[in-house]
Amino acid sequence: MCANDLRELACEIVRCERCGLSKTRRNAVPGEGPEDARIMMIGEAPGAAEDLAGRPFVGRAGAILNRALNLAGLDRDEIFITNIVKCRPPGNRQPSADEIRACMPYLRKQIEMVRPSAICLLGNVPARAILGVQGVTALRGRVFDDLYLITFHPAAVLRNMGRMELFVSDLVRLREMRFGSNVR
Ligand code: SF4
Repeated sequence: MCANDLRELACEIVRCERCGLSKTRRNAVPGEGPEDARIMMIGEAPGAAEDLAGRPFVGRAGAILNRALNLAGLDRDEIFITNIVKCRPPGNRQPSADEIRACMPYLRKQIEMVRPSAICLLGNVPARAILGVQGVTALRGRVFDDLYLITFHPAAVLRNMGRMELFVSDLVRLREMRFGSNVR
């Protein structure tokens, strides 16, 4: 990997064939947001709408995320949003361990380039891949290493709107973390 900035890295990602997901995707979804974003959000993988658009969180789960960000007083345009794997797993299955391993260098590089003060892990897949923990229902709202906050994946909120209030309260916590001293 030889990218020097996020745009070059995105070009590398859209051409990537490191794992089998390259054979079934329409578009890879590198992620989007400012290079100096203080907050990064990491989901699981692109879904059907994201695969079509080449952009993260543009489908129904994205609409929930947008609404929750709004309620929490956060501006999506100031957040770098990406996923653990950059290509859609067929049928929206969870990405395999091999796919996550193949794709992880891109995410590591994105974190290194953006150097966020707060990283929100949306659901079990990113929590497990980054921190080696799982059980979002119990772990949501908890901060690890003064940097990582775990919360629900927006699709899980969409399935159970009773979670919306907790989701928004986690994002308020995230907002408060963005001026933390870690990393920067
Ligand atoms: S998921 Fe990641 S590693 Fe696999 S083809 Fe897409 S960009 Fe490459």
